[in-house]
Amino acid sequence: MSGSTIDVLVAGAGAAGMAAALAASEQGSEVVVVEAKETFRLGSNTAMSTSMVPAGGSRWQRQAGIDDSPERFYSDIMAKTKAAADPVVARALTRLAPDLVAWMADSAGVPFELVTDFQYPGHSRDRCLAVADRAGSTLHRHLLDEVARRPEVTLITPMRLTALEHDGSQIVSVRLETPDGGREEVTPHRVVLATNGFGARQDLVARYIPEIEGALYHGGDESTGDALAIGELLNADVGYLDAYQGHGSVASPHGILVTWATVMHGAVLVNTSGERFGDETTGYSEYAVPVLKQPDGVAWVVFDRRIDRACRVFKDYQDLLAADAIRWSKGTEELAGVIGAPAASLAGTLIAVEEAAVGDSDDSFGRTLWEEPLRPPYGSIKVTGALFHTQGGLRVDGNARVLRDGDPIPGLYAAGGAAAGISGHGADGYLAGNGLLSALGLGYLAGRHHGTDD
Ligand SMILES: Cc1cc2nc3c(=O)[nH]c(=O)nc-3n(C[C@H](O)[C@H](O)[C@H](O)COP(=O)(O)OP(=O)(O)OC[C@H]3O[C@@H](n4cnc5c(N)ncnc54)[C@H](O)[C@@H]3O)c2cc1C
Repeated sequence: MSGSTIDVLVAGAGAAGMAAALAASEQGSEVVVVEAKETFRLGSNTAMSTSMVPAGGSRWQRQAGIDDSPERFYSDIMAKTKAAADPVVARALTRLAPDLVAWMADSAGVPFELVTDFQYPGHSRDRCLAVADRAGSTLHRHLLDEVARRPEVTLITPMRLTALEHDGSQIVSVRLETPDGGREEVTPHRVVLATNGFGARQDLVARYIPEIEGALYHGGDESTGDALAIGELLNADVGYLDAYQGHGSVASPHGILVTWATVMHGAVLVNTSGERFGDETTGYSEYAVPVLKQPDGVAWVVFDRRIDRACRVFKDYQDLLAADAIRWSKGTEELAGVIGAPAASLAGTLIAVEEAAVGDSDDSFGRTLWEEPLRPPYGSIKVTGALFHTQGGLRVDGNARVLRDGDPIPGLYAAGGAAAGISGHGADGYLAGNGLLSALGLGYLAGRHHGTDD
């Protein structure tokens, strides 16, 4: 590669990097993607995800007769983040989203379908698209296959971007390293940092997001904050470093995601005292910390056969079945034995759930979404709260350009977890799908941008 001209260098081959590479190649650019981890096809956040990508006003919604728009989606983002989301980036991504998902389907062959069997918390319309097995690895494979078909794109792995020098008007050099000690310097015209966030760095999590410090980390192990470190050396603007996606239900000890679709279909979470501890439907991200505050930092997701059937479409759920993580109990007493909870307490909780679900009384936590009451036999899975990925990072504009004192740094872009996202602060601003939307959307905008000032 030394000496050759690279139009666009992309660091990271997750959703953000793939979208950037594909979009840049369509502009006629020669693109090199360097990826740090040889096994990234399984270990990146994109591969671990459930493939949900939201778009307000997509053609899939039109076909299903769903009235939605970028404006409505933007309003939902602002409502969920209490107006704390970056308005420029949120506006750019919600406007782009319908075209982005159409482009992914038409140009990259991603077989999206609209998820209509339940709504994730905070979305006022059915607007999440996903692949049939709800597996990020499937979504990722389609993007990788398309990249492999493009002669303009070269993917090199394992190779890590480790440093970037910029003279204020252009990129001067980029250092690339291989695990065997190989090193080279290149001078691309543009660089897209698509290296995700800092979830795998305990020290940075402790510094910026102490509330989730020490929790299970259930994300890519190369999310080591490389973009943040590079940006800080360039005095780039950084923001929202306390923002993250948590999750209130990762099976313990299996380490497999228990989809929140269980909850949205009517499941509840109880602790080892047999008690619920909140309105589960507010959101899975903000439920990580309440779960961690329960005795031993665990809870049990309790559901029934109807919910079991509804969740089988998820690959993660199939993995739970294969791992024998689900315990079935004929009734409350047996369930109490499984959980190790006092039977009377658990029985009281389930009676109250039934009354709220059929509308006989108000739920003491204010929950109103139930679908149907739970019916025995009861399924249960022991879960813990986890950190999935961080949502803060380099501040970017509506073209994914990295900012310094509010102005773009020429030639430098960030996308996905490397950039500050649209989730506001903390855990509760995260809306399902906004991780992949920030990755794919900012990646696409970065790849498509031609590098001039407008
Ligand atoms: C279990 C789980 C489920 C999720 N489900 C969803 C969902 O359904 N919808 C949604 O929107 N979001 C979901 N998310 C979040 C989503 O996965 C992330 O927001 C998104 O994948 C981030 O994409 P990315 O390209 O920025 O990062 P990644 O996919 O992690 O890609 C970054 C890549 O960069 C590489 N890298 C790191 N440093 C360097 C370097 N210096 N040089 C070169 N390469 C480097 C890494 O090895 C990695 O392959 C989920 C997350 C988890 C953990």
